[in-house]
Amino acid sequence: MVGESKLKIVNMEIKTFHFNPIMVNTYILSDETNEAVIVDPGNCQTYEDAQIRDYVAAKNLKIKYLINTHPHIDHIAGNPWCVAEYHPHVLMHEAGMKEYGRAYAYATVFGFEIEKMPNPDRYLQEGDEVTFGNQHLKVLYTPGHCDGSICLYSAENKLILTGDLIFELSVGRSDLPSGNEALLQQSIREKILTLDDEVTILPGHGDPTTVGRERRENPFLVRG
Ligand SMILES: [Zn+2]
Repeated sequence: MVGESKLKIVNMEIKTFHFNPIMVNTYILSDETNEAVIVDPGNCQTYEDAQIRDYVAAKNLKIKYLINTHPHIDHIAGNPWCVAEYHPHVLMHEAGMKEYGRAYAYATVFGFEIEKMPNPDRYLQEGDEVTFGNQHLKVLYTPGHCDGSICLYSAENKLILTGDLIFELSVGRSDLPSGNEALLQQSIREKILTLDDEVTILPGHGDPTTVGRERRENPFLVRG
């Protein structure tokens, strides 16, 4: 028994949904206080809305924040619904606002029918901390996939939400508007590979992985 009095009870619960034709991972993070954040709501069908509604009701959650890791349509399509339903504060990085403003145009290309996007309540920057319940998410600015891309790191829980920066044995696209391959590699090198091997990566698409596995096996990392 070491330093029990100083040990913080960490009890984050993570729910993952797979939404919309691009199969984005939408995450709801909560803890024993019932405060919660929703990250990248990609719901765009009523049956998808219902999945969120059922989960939030069953757990009696209060959605305090809505956070977008970046402003691509598959990650923001559910913003209007979530804001209308739960009135969370909407948080994102200011550098993504141009892209966020173009959401309508991309929506039609990808076959989404969306409503007007809610304005952000606050911009997130490198080093900011988002708190809910007893949880702390540190904001890491990680450009490369597109302008305004961030990761959310919980040191206590040893997990990081990476949006479309890095995936299991893959990395995010850098060939879309405002994408930049060198920046993407730099963000991964400086913000992800500097974390401990056992940190769990919760990516924007696909299965969870770990920093250690990606450090060893990811074939798309430029190793200098
Ligand atoms: Zn994306």
